[in-house]
Amino acid sequence: MAVRSGLAFVLLINTGVVTCHLEGEAPKKIAIIGAGIGGSSTAYFLRQKFGHNVGIDVYEKGTIGGRLATVTVNGQEYEIGGSVIHPLNLHMQEFVKQLGLKHRKGVPEKVAIFNGEHFVFEETDWYLQDLFKLWWRYGFGLLRLQMWVEEILEKFLRIYKYQAHGYAYSTVEEMMQSLGGERFINLTRRSMTETLQELGISQRFIDEIVTAVTRVNYGQSASIPAFVGAVAIAGVQAGLWAVEGGNKLVCSQMLESAKVNVIHTTVTSISLQQSGNKPLYQVKYESENEGGYDFYDIVIIATPLHHETTNITFNDFTPPFTPFPGHYQRIIVSVVHGYLNSSYFGFPDPKLFPFATILTVESAKLFMLSTGSICPVNITTNYRRKQPQEAAVWKVFSLKPLAKEELKTLFRSYYSVQVTDWLGYPQYQSGKGIPPIILHENLYYLNGIEWIASAMEMSAIAAKNMALLTFNRWNQHLDMIDQKDLVHKIKTEL
Ligand SMILES: Cc1cc2nc3c(=O)[nH]c(=O)nc-3n(C[C@H](O)[C@H](O)[C@H](O)COP(=O)(O)OP(=O)(O)OC[C@H]3O[C@@H](n4cnc5c(N)ncnc54)[C@H](O)[C@@H]3O)c2cc1C
Repeated sequence: MAVRSGLAFVLLINTGVVTCHLEGEAPKKIAIIGAGIGGSSTAYFLRQKFGHNVGIDVYEKGTIGGRLATVTVNGQEYEIGGSVIHPLNLHMQEFVKQLGLKHRKGVPEKVAIFNGEHFVFEETDWYLQDLFKLWWRYGFGLLRLQMWVEEILEKFLRIYKYQAHGYAYSTVEEMMQSLGGERFINLTRRSMTETLQELGISQRFIDEIVTAVTRVNYGQSASIPAFVGAVAIAGVQAGLWAVEGGNKLVCSQMLESAKVNVIHTTVTSISLQQSGNKPLYQVKYESENEGGYDFYDIVIIATPLHHETTNITFNDFTPPFTPFPGHYQRIIVSVVHGYLNSSYFGFPDPKLFPFATILTVESAKLFMLSTGSICPVNITTNYRRKQPQEAAVWKVFSLKPLAKEELKTLFRSYYSVQVTDWLGYPQYQSGKGIPPIILHENLYYLNGIEWIASAMEMSAIAAKNMALLTFNRWNQHLDMIDQKDLVHKIKTEL
């Protein structure tokens, strides 16, 4: 991942004070730190809100796209970070449309769930047969789970309407409260297991199906909070898509379209230079050969600020800084070009192995979270998935780097292995609450939203909120921030 280790000190000041500016007096310069999907979409939305006279600098120490990244195998690129997008991720849909990008064609696949000894679930060519098998083993668990996720999704979709009307939130909790009341807030605090048990879903279904999904999507068990659990389930629903050419194209093209100044360097510190009713922030940076600084009216941090994810320091803020609690989950992505050892999964004849994706349950016998045959980011119309006996490109998720012996267990032989060591997403049980959005009067933090769920669309929603919040606060449109009862208010406005 494009974040690096070191100590992070984070300010936790939410003064709640809104700076006084005259309407029309636009900010001169805005800095965004991080050019992942969060920082890039913030730049895009800020340009729409503040117009073309404000200078926007985007600092990036690694590669544009951040956790949206690819590796090349045999001249073809493959996603190694954020890969799939839900059909109802409306900001991502809109970006692709506005930027003239395309959806990548889906390639059918069969999924199975492995417990270290045998498959506990095997998908077939027959949908009704699969449903029957699921009902036989787990009762109505699947139906109840689907209905629960649909209900959450339906309420969550309100965010697009509220944002289209210009409403913003000063905290993630306010946003959740406005979308689904106390129940939504509770979904970020109670575990998925507990919540599903209350819905009458069996422990067996949770241990085998739900856990397989939370492991592949977040590298964690079903004891993660229910909201992020629902996002994980949505991440295996029908109709998932990706961007033709690679998801990271959305970031580079948004930055280009927003006409911002991208500065390839590492931000080392942010200092308060001038307080009073018009604060000014100094952003210091360092590259291999040179360092420098610049001054900004507004600064937006679009990268995780936790112990192991950043080195940025904050100076001259009162009160001083404490680090955000909680850790990021290490996820190893190994992209292996080779021949799967189907015998390990109980299929001595590789020709008869029908699965492209193998998910797993929790078991001491297992050293991986999932293994899947993956398609390149560019898919031609005559593209076909490799036959099971052919060499293919596989993506293996694990919590630790795979040892040679483990690779030999999974693959009969291989040509290449490329390993990416990510700090992928929050360790959902390690945090204590959700970090603030407003760190100081005009200093903001985007990535707190990851603590309710980390996904491309969540960053895009946070980015739109950021543009609306900074704009509304700058222009004193306080009636557009943290409004209650928007469902009814918007209905009467229309
Ligand atoms: C393996 C994996 C699989 C995933 N799968 C999916 C999926 O299928 N679907 C989905 O929706 N989401 C998925 N996600 C989650 C998704 O990728 C992230 O939620 C999203 O990309 C986060 O974007 P971001 O811009 O907030 O952060 P990042 O992408 O981390 O961007 C932060 C950027 O800031 C830069 N930066 C950091 N510090 C500094 C500094 N001091 N100075 C300058 N620049 C700095 C970094 O280099 C980085 O580019 C996955 C994540 C991982 C790791």
